[in-house]
Amino acid sequence: MTAYPSDAPASQALLDRALAVTPGGVNSPVRAFRAVGGTPRFMVSGQGPYLTDADGREYVDLVCSWGPMILGHSHPAVLEAVQQAATRGFSFGTPSENEVALAEEIVARVEPVEQVRLVSSGTEATMSAIRLARGFTGRSLIVKFAGCYHGHVDSLLAQAGSGVATFALPDSAGVPKEMAAETIVLPYNDIPALEEVFAERGADIAAVITEASPGNMGVVPPLPGFTAALRRVTAEHGALLISDEVMTGFRCSRAGWFGLEGDAGYAAGAPDLFTFGKVMGGGFPAAAFGGRADVMAMLAPTGPVYQAGTLSGNPVATAAGLATLQHCTDDVYTRLGEVSDALTTGVGEALDAAGVPHVIQRAGSMFSVFFRDGAVTDYDTARAQDVPAFAAFFHSMLDQGVHLPPSAFESWFVSASHDDAAVDRVLAALPTAASAAA
Ligand code: PLP
Repeated sequence: MTAYPSDAPASQALLDRALAVTPGGVNSPVRAFRAVGGTPRFMVSGQGPYLTDADGREYVDLVCSWGPMILGHSHPAVLEAVQQAATRGFSFGTPSENEVALAEEIVARVEPVEQVRLVSSGTEATMSAIRLARGFTGRSLIVKFAGCYHGHVDSLLAQAGSGVATFALPDSAGVPKEMAAETIVLPYNDIPALEEVFAERGADIAAVITEASPGNMGVVPPLPGFTAALRRVTAEHGALLISDEVMTGFRCSRAGWFGLEGDAGYAAGAPDLFTFGKVMGGGFPAAAFGGRADVMAMLAPTGPVYQAGTLSGNPVATAAGLATLQHCTDDVYTRLGEVSDALTTGVGEALDAAGVPHVIQRAGSMFSVFFRDGAVTDYDTARAQDVPAFAAFFHSMLDQGVHLPPSAFESWFVSASHDDAAVDRVLAALPTAASAAA
């Protein structure tokens, strides 16, 4: 891989300090730039569509904290809600009104969700949804899809995408083989494989968990009929369907992917459980799982499935999440669509002009650029791309002040604060970056 010189001395100095006290110098692996080389930028502030790093360089941000910052950084209404909440207290360890209001907002937006429980991370949400599905059905097996990432839950770190794909590790060390044995991993978008596994093991399968529209192997939307097949097959065998909308929720539409695919995907019925995170915390640690009231009633204190959290429903985090969702109006989704249109068109034209093979895939305002020819429909096709070409493109964009996800296996995220000036800065950087990738 090309070695990129560090031209970010203040970030490098912080990285050197961090390396002495933190593995890899980072608190989440993909931030370390291992897939692209070079010095990860230590950011000091964010405003609207821009981030500023420790060297004082400004970047148009197309990561948006991996999704949450849908309104842009430091949105004034969210900032005010956070300041007011913090003035009243940081954490009570009791119920508080914002938790109710946030749950009401989620239930109002995602029609099949009748009851919801708040947690602090997407990982907690998927972990808890799986325990609940097992408790409800009395079965242990879980089906997931290769390339789908559901957080760092033991039983879900089997051939996961995201950081794991970045490091080309199919599984994580430290996951007991007994745990992994409770998980069946199938190729994404493969209905015959799904039907076959249910024909053999259907009576033992508690749930199928899927990213509503995967974004962690890059953006790979379900092919027509796949979501419907998930619903039909699980229902036939008495297994639950868990739709992981941590990434897509409240971003692809007011509801999420559910609101976009709608009847086309869910003609045979809605998922039983959903998981949410990212946008619903507005940049703070808030996440949730929810769904059918009869399933949710199995949770403690009404049922036998235990789940809890010291900071669950934290009053400052819920204030941020509530203010964010309240400002996610139809205009916001229109703007996200416009920005995504402009960027996908611009990227496509620049790569075409430079003769770089590519395919751009999109789910609502989420999109990925795969450096390969031909559609990506599963993890194998996602991996068959020119990663060094992506790295060259990434570094040219970074040098020109555009902050992209530092991995070829991620979605790009935009915000409603990306105005024409920010979009134009990205468009202006593209020809040079495309040439670098050629
Ligand atoms: N599920 C999906 C689809 C995700 O994209 C992620 C994180 O990227 C998670 C779950 C885990 O969320 P968290 O990082 O908040 O634990």
